[in-house]
Amino acid sequence: MRLVVDLNRCQGYAQCAFLAPDVFTMHGEEALMYDPGADEARREQVMRAAAACPVQAILVDQVDAPGTPERPIALERAGTDGR
Ligand code: SF4
Repeated sequence: MRLVVDLNRCQGYAQCAFLAPDVFTMHGEEALMYDPGADEARREQVMRAAAACPVQAILVDQVDAPGTPERPIALERAGTDGR
């Protein structure tokens, strides 16, 4: 499955790490690490984690096209400062 966590939205509540510890891991109090290509066998755990996330930061199978990344804001601004 394909898995994306919107880390701008994630508040580090760690619900996902409790419900799917093989896929989501907290490092420190707020840094979340996860497996974006989690095994299909983990789907039920991941779906529970996504449902439990208080800010709906976990997206499952909604980002299929690797060719359509969000544009990093820093890069968009890099060319406009005259340097
Ligand atoms: S449950 Fe949601 S807010 Fe909490 S760590 Fe996981 S993704 Fe982030």
